[in-house]
Amino acid sequence: MTQYEKLTPPSEGEKIRIENGELNVPDNPIIPFIAGDGIGPDIWRATKPVLDSAVEKAYGGKKKIVWFQVHAGLSALKLYGNDRVLPEDTLTAIREHLVAIKGPLTTPVGGFKYVCLACAAEQDGGPNGERPEKCVKCGSPWVTPRFRSLNVQLRQKLDLYACIRPVRWFKGVPCPVKHPEKLNVIIFRENTEDVYAGIEFEQGTPEVNQVIKFLNSEMGKNIREDSGVGIKPISITGTKRLVRKAIDYAISHHKASVTLVHKGNIMKFTEGAFRDWGYEVAKEEYREQIVTEKELWEKYDGKMPEGKVLIKDRIADQIFQQVLLRPDEYDILATPNLNGDYLSDACAAQVGGLGLAPGANMGDHIGLFEATHGTAPKYTGMDKVNPSSLILSGALMLEYLGWNEAAEMIVHAIEKTIQQKRVTYDLERQMEGATKLKCSEFGKAIVENM
Ligand code: NAP
Repeated sequence: MTQYEKLTPPSEGEKIRIENGELNVPDNPIIPFIAGDGIGPDIWRATKPVLDSAVEKAYGGKKKIVWFQVHAGLSALKLYGNDRVLPEDTLTAIREHLVAIKGPLTTPVGGFKYVCLACAAEQDGGPNGERPEKCVKCGSPWVTPRFRSLNVQLRQKLDLYACIRPVRWFKGVPCPVKHPEKLNVIIFRENTEDVYAGIEFEQGTPEVNQVIKFLNSEMGKNIREDSGVGIKPISITGTKRLVRKAIDYAISHHKASVTLVHKGNIMKFTEGAFRDWGYEVAKEEYREQIVTEKELWEKYDGKMPEGKVLIKDRIADQIFQQVLLRPDEYDILATPNLNGDYLSDACAAQVGGLGLAPGANMGDHIGLFEATHGTAPKYTGMDKVNPSSLILSGALMLEYLGWNEAAEMIVHAIEKTIQQKRVTYDLERQMEGATKLKCSEFGKAIVENM
């Protein structure tokens, strides 16, 4: 039995296990959840009943999720104290149960010493840098020294190397383009490398001076002495496992293409290598199931053979044009970390915004499903915001469990609710004749529409 410092796992329910490399899901899986900071608890309160009702209705009570609350961010600080914003208990629970879901967590940006986990205000501290007793903005006592992004830490510590973001339009959602229905992509973004590896050296420190001295004097570079320096590692291992996941998904979900997105024309040994290793894994491991774009023209006269996945690549800046001008030519986009970060939000905006975009961070077996927006601190506790991103992440999680019927029920019910123009403030302000619902009311409306 796993020993936790402060958690008591539920007495009912069973663990999801891996058997012969496959997920084995019992009818009553224990699933850890992190409600999150800021608006996290509001959207979680709206989401949980939607997931529970969908499972109940889809399987007539035969299946049921047993929820297990674990902590990160403000709730961890309150329970564990001592600035422990990501306790080991949480990592253990997720590793043990394999599938988990989370709301947003405060991410401090930099250049200051403390962050308030109640309102996300960043602050320098007292005259000698000492910790403020209260937040300078909201007066809360939950001010903690700056920490590295909890999301990045979770991804790195659990080795969740693929960030998966499906982006599609929901009928009725206001959006800035004429044909939002043409965009239906899933972005597989590498999660552990690239500039997000977090290898940075602050300007003016002895460390950065050493790095600059080495690069200038021994590697023949010419870096200004007053620079900060970041390192961008991209490996064969990191690239191949990400591209493998994207191709596996394309094959199992009958998708037409996987596009490798890179800036290889400028960064040959990182982004260009990502493209080359991506093609390598496709050709070496999936030879019978794929056709590259080059082969399509050389061997097949541009006519895609039935049942195969097309592997192509696009330069990062070009893909931003492509998703706007020829969105229906893309299915799965596999990207290094930073490109994927920008591209996910741009695609989400194209179909009506981040409030509706679900996400998952996946390792070989662990799946951590999450809302893609932040903690929107100004709306904390107001029961106001749109919970759809977390609800749809929950639907994605159900799909991962193989509970497709429940997942589909949620997606249809959200679509129906939006078409009835019963929406939260963010959509209501853009829709004529819509009824504005609170976060919790929107969750209830979805349940009614199942
Ligand atoms: P944000 O929390 O995403 O909020 C920016 C704006 O987006 C909000 O003011 C609101 O717009 C809109 N919004 C966000 N979520 C919404 C929802 N569920 N429903 C409706 N509208 C929503 O971004 P931020 O203010 O830049 O970041 C706040 C904190 O969250 C920071 O600490 C940041 O680092 C962190 N963050 C965490 C994650 C994560 O945990 N995955 C991701 C991103 C950011 P209006 O003001 O127009 O109403």
